[in-house]
Amino acid sequence: MRLKIVQAGEEVLRKQARALTRDEILSPQIQQLIEHMRDTMRDAPGVGLAAPQIGESLQLAVIEDRAEYQRELTSEQLAARGRKPVPFHVLVNPRFTIGNNQNENNGNTGNSSNTFFEGCLSVSGYTALVSRSNAVTVECLNERAEPVTIVATGWYARILQHEIDHLNGILYVDRMQPRTLTTLENARRIWKDAPITEVQARLSAKS
Ligand code: ZN
Repeated sequence: MRLKIVQAGEEVLRKQARALTRDEILSPQIQQLIEHMRDTMRDAPGVGLAAPQIGESLQLAVIEDRAEYQRELTSEQLAARGRKPVPFHVLVNPRFTIGNNQNENNGNTGNSSNTFFEGCLSVSGYTALVSRSNAVTVECLNERAEPVTIVATGWYARILQHEIDHLNGILYVDRMQPRTLTTLENARRIWKDAPITEVQARLSAKS
């Protein structure tokens, strides 16, 4: 079943979502909500969907980055973004830390960032440059209420940061470089193959 995706301006997108108990996660209602969120994300299509986006103020999100979504990008663009397919999975009550613990043990914090165009199903029709940490570690529960630790880099790390922001009432527009806000149509027509540094320079310049 497809659910309605709410758009920016709805209060639910700006609220701190509440955590789910183990019993709630395992309940038929939440199990069915997860299925409906998966169907809604695939139908959109999108690489992630957080419960506030379908009007439920709950610490719940689904993620899936299919190979077929990546066909429009060149192999160079995929490599620059660190973008690889991510199988469908569920995040409940996630907490994240910047960087990845393995690197920290080696004296490398892994907290470098990268900047790319990012969009959101709840800010329909637009995209803007957003800087995100290149690596994150997320601790959460899965749909069986089991604890999971996710260590992610590249585009997957970006998706996790975007979805977890939703659970804390934050939209990408709070983090974007405002002068780079672009309609999706213009992003495709004008900026698709431009290096990010050029996009920043040309859209930020006033002369
Ligand atoms: Zn979003």
